[in-house]
Amino acid sequence: MSQERLPFTRPNIDEATIEGVAEVLRSGWLASGPMVKAFERKLSEFVGGRPVRAVTSATEALEIALLAAGVGPGDEVITSPMSFCATANVILRIGARPVFVDVNLDTRNLSLDETAFAITDRTRAILPVHFAGLPVNLDQLYGLATRHDLRVIEDAAHAIGSSFQGRRIGSCGDLVCFSFHPNKNLTSGEGGAIVVSSEDELRYVERARFHGMERDGPGEMDVYFPGMKANMSDICARIGLGQLERLDEFNARRRELASRYFKHWEHDAPLRLPARGDQGHSWHMFAPLLPLEDAELTRAEFIRRMDEFGIGVGVHYPAIHRFSAYQALGWRAGMYPNAERIGRETVTLPLFPAMRDADVDRVVGAVNHVLGVIA
Ligand SMILES: *Cc1c(COP(=O)(O)O)cnc(C)c1O
Repeated sequence: MSQERLPFTRPNIDEATIEGVAEVLRSGWLASGPMVKAFERKLSEFVGGRPVRAVTSATEALEIALLAAGVGPGDEVITSPMSFCATANVILRIGARPVFVDVNLDTRNLSLDETAFAITDRTRAILPVHFAGLPVNLDQLYGLATRHDLRVIEDAAHAIGSSFQGRRIGSCGDLVCFSFHPNKNLTSGEGGAIVVSSEDELRYVERARFHGMERDGPGEMDVYFPGMKANMSDICARIGLGQLERLDEFNARRRELASRYFKHWEHDAPLRLPARGDQGHSWHMFAPLLPLEDAELTRAEFIRRMDEFGIGVGVHYPAIHRFSAYQALGWRAGMYPNAERIGRETVTLPLFPAMRDADVDRVVGAVNHVLGVIA
């Protein structure tokens, strides 16, 4: 049984992009230059003409977006405990306080009904995650934000190319942040982007990502505040440009592969499948919950057994409030039961555009076998 190892994800960089990167390397201009400008222009087109600026990661994008929205020390930001740790870390880093609201077990998205009850005098913003590429209900989200005069920073790290009822993520709403980490639906090696809502914010983001600096004509510049160093390089931007051209194709393939998992497990799925969503779902990942209570198996054992079949399985994510840094600030086990259960039971099965149909069949066969299903 010498099958090729199947990772849970793998970036898909074509030869034209590799050649394009080589040209950038030969050009002598590696820092932020024409490629970053071109990438930003294409990203802006992709989100319906709204202004977009590229940065080094979604983590930096989120931190800058919070600051651009005027969130600061003492403010509360409502967010999800079921995300990559960066989502909440950035709130702490700027001196604000994350207020976690539990997620739905199947969508993994922030419960917006419960969010309404978490709003206080100190709440300044809501920072939801479009988990796995399944958008939160934007009507409900922005209805709530408008009623309570709150800013919204969308963590759209999983959601480039997703749409909610025909509206593409980033094409509407307040501040929207994307990630171009190699595992995401579109990569630039590492990178991220911010969609902003106003000219003032655009200016703030441009300064914040580069030392708080602005150039005022030849040889002239000023520093307005001690900014970050979070500008994207032309090397990364060229990778992103090559990826953006193929994003729709990649996401369509992700949808097909997800459908194939659902079809296999239409009846008697041996694990709890994620919410299916609709055509607006971009399927950044396929992450069911293991039946740990019924199966006489730990997750570590499941991952090990899948590994024996040559299949890589990820875990996205442990609940954020259970990390030491958050326990030290007073969060406790039991506070967000759905996030904690997901954190314990979730596994991410292989899903990436270059996968073949037969790879899905192979994963399903292995999962069924490991979970003791008689096919
Ligand atoms: C990947 C990710 C981030 C961070 O993205 P980087 O580009 O790696 O900084 C933030 N939020 C979520 C939900 C993510 O998955």
